[in-house]
Amino acid sequence: MASKKLKILGVIGDPISHSLSPLMQNAALAHLKLPYLYMPFHVPSKDLKSFFKSLHQKNLAGFNVTIPHKQAVLAFLDSMSPDAKMIGAVNTIVVKGKKIKGFNTDGDGYLLSLKREAQFSPKNKSVLLLGAGGAARAIAVSLGMQKAKSVTILNRTENTAQALATEMQEKFPHTFFLADRFDNFQKVDWRNIDLLINATSMGMKKNTLPKLPLAQLPKSALVSDIVYNPRNTNLLKQARKLGLSTHEGWGMLLYQGALAFEHFTGKKAPVAVMKKNLLEFLYRS
Ligand code: NAP
Repeated sequence: MASKKLKILGVIGDPISHSLSPLMQNAALAHLKLPYLYMPFHVPSKDLKSFFKSLHQKNLAGFNVTIPHKQAVLAFLDSMSPDAKMIGAVNTIVVKGKKIKGFNTDGDGYLLSLKREAQFSPKNKSVLLLGAGGAARAIAVSLGMQKAKSVTILNRTENTAQALATEMQEKFPHTFFLADRFDNFQKVDWRNIDLLINATSMGMKKNTLPKLPLAQLPKSALVSDIVYNPRNTNLLKQARKLGLSTHEGWGMLLYQGALAFEHFTGKKAPVAVMKKNLLEFLYRS
């Protein structure tokens, strides 16, 4: 049993046993000797309301939110950060007294990872974003906030890409948003792309990404895949063969967790400790 002084943190989702957040967060908490315990909570959708009712009883100081609750939790919040509002989804919740505030660290985690792991800033850059699902949406908001020059969104379901591009264009007039269906990737001018991001589920085991004209990218382009399992996706392998710089998917996972840690504890996240634990677990042979 947790002692009275020990504050509880956690992650809610359904399923939840696969979550890597307890591993990363507990390693960081132990490293800084902070009086928190981070636990997984299996919360099916039908129990979400009662989970929020029992927050104070559980002594919860904050928690992460994963599939399928990232949008459903909005109904239970007192306030939200500006980027979470724009994304329309929350992955981090902080409980302060009776107030519950939602954040979304996915997009900023991705950007921080680009900066720290690939020394890349999207400001004034042309981006080709594959996918228009939840992760792509968080990334699109961050790219708009960082004043990317242009963001071309390609998606299997064209309507979703168009809707995302239209919404982003209204929010970020300084960035030029375009959309098309994924199959039209040949029509894109690959010679002018600075950053290619795969934010689709393609590239995960058994779900392969079609061969893309990476050879047309400029030599200075960065190829980024947010799929982290496998670590070396076919997209990243192809890019490396062509001598292009690459950025691996674990970075987004790590830095969204590091930013969540900072919201929970108010302390600077020990990123090196979190990274070591995450990579050792994910890619142990
Ligand atoms: P999502 O909301 O379900 O979106 C999935 C996206 O992939 C959609 O754009 C979907 O297109 C596209 N897609 C799926 N299967 C496809 C196929 N067979 N052919 C073409 N397009 C396909 O999922 P998400 O949360 O955005 O996650 C997307 C990927 O990012 C997953 O692999 C996930 O593991 C990874 N991810 C990584 C991190 C990280 O921290 N590294 C964080 C979040 C997500 P439609 O719109 O046409 O369905």
